[in-house]
Amino acid sequence: MYLNKMLRPPRTLASRLTLWYAGIFIISTLVAFGAFYLVISTVISKNTDQDLMEDVQGYSSMLTAEGIDQVKSEMAWEALSDGQEHIFLRLLTMDGKEVAATDMSAWRSVGTGRHALEKLKRGADYVLETLDLPEQEFKARTVYGSIGPDLVLQIGESLEEDEEFLELHRIVFIPIMAVMAIIAAIVGWLMARRALTGVEEVTQTAIEISKGALDKRVPFKARGDEIERLATTFNYMLDRINVLIKGMREMSDNIAHDLRSPLARIRGVAEMALTTSANDEEYKAMAGSMLEECDRLLGMINAMLDIAEAESGAGETKLEAVDLVGIIQRACELFQAIAEENSVTIATELPEICLVYGEARKFQRMVANLLDNALKFTPPQGTVKVSLKADNGQVALSVSDTGIGISEDDLPHVFKRFYRCDNSRAQQGTGLGLSLVKAIAGSLGGSVNATSHLGKGSTFTVTIPQLPLSHQFQPAK
Ligand code: ADP
Repeated sequence: MYLNKMLRPPRTLASRLTLWYAGIFIISTLVAFGAFYLVISTVISKNTDQDLMEDVQGYSSMLTAEGIDQVKSEMAWEALSDGQEHIFLRLLTMDGKEVAATDMSAWRSVGTGRHALEKLKRGADYVLETLDLPEQEFKARTVYGSIGPDLVLQIGESLEEDEEFLELHRIVFIPIMAVMAIIAAIVGWLMARRALTGVEEVTQTAIEISKGALDKRVPFKARGDEIERLATTFNYMLDRINVLIKGMREMSDNIAHDLRSPLARIRGVAEMALTTSANDEEYKAMAGSMLEECDRLLGMINAMLDIAEAESGAGETKLEAVDLVGIIQRACELFQAIAEENSVTIATELPEICLVYGEARKFQRMVANLLDNALKFTPPQGTVKVSLKADNGQVALSVSDTGIGISEDDLPHVFKRFYRCDNSRAQQGTGLGLSLVKAIAGSLGGSVNATSHLGKGSTFTVTIPQLPLSHQFQPAK
């Protein structure tokens, strides 16, 4: 079981990277050593062959210059000085008859080399062979070469030195390789750990958040690398989620609080209808008031859904160029009848055209809410002025009125959901209109602000960028 565990591939990315790093290092070192070993062994055997052939050549010249006896004594001397168990020299006729030879006791199983002699007969200058003899611990290399008429010289040499030299390379390489592999694994591990610390920090933060620390963020150093991008994007995502969670909490609190009253009223009317005996007219009135409350509730729920949609950024798919001037003009026309009814004048100060990007429906709702408020809270003979200015890539839409105004205490709260100032309770409303305006402006990358003087009037200004939001705001590159 323990072995099974050990053989299982490692799970952590750091261990896997380390294995890859060490594996690639070991394989490339093996390939490099293999190539080096091949080159060395080729060079060594070429040199050995070269030496043997030069030796034969030397004897050939000696035979011509000094005769066969000198050749024989030189052969004996060479065998003695190099070691008779290490080298042998033989003179043969072309038919394989031995003419002379050094001590062959260490080379008993060396044959006459018929094939080699055949090749020489066919015109080859030298014939080289490798011998694997039972009486020799190491392999031997032998050369046959014609040195005179019907006279062939065979020289055989043990490859002991060459093999020992190559063996030494192998012996030295293995421990070096082992040490280097360990170093490679340690360096690989450290590098992988270092590269993955950022990922670990993201994981730790995610763990802490999952335990409830919603305000936690990933700490990051300005390294400008992928980990920093991951951390920034992760933090940005957390901020967004936090805003949404807060919004949802507020929303559910508000729903509980503000939807309770209309529901209680509906329940009250329904209870009355059940418990009291009334005539048709009275029942119709009760049903009418229940219908009214239901419409109010539906209006509130729809407004809340619109706010939630704008705040979450959902539905931001339709990016169309919209002429804001046209939208304002149409809204003013729609509200003209109410304005006239209340003896309020609507004035405008608009450019000829002003293109913005987004959903026309959202701009319409924003303008309608601001106009509706201004008309609702402006007494007769007052004026509501709508103006639009485009400057420096920003569009500013202002709706000002000469109405009842908002107190300094109320002003910071008017954009909160369900907030209604005390002096406006006489007017119908849900307290959601300005929240929707703020959410829409936010979803377009803009903002809304309000200035007001109690008893004198208020001004609401929405500022949004003229280019689409996607061109303005990029949290992570
Ligand atoms: P609603 O108008 O439905 O009550 P809003 O969110 O649009 O809700 O407005 C919130 C509150 O802000 C209003 O109830 C009102 O007290 C105040 N308010 C908004 N606009 C004006 C305005 N133009 N003049 C005076 N008070 C305003």
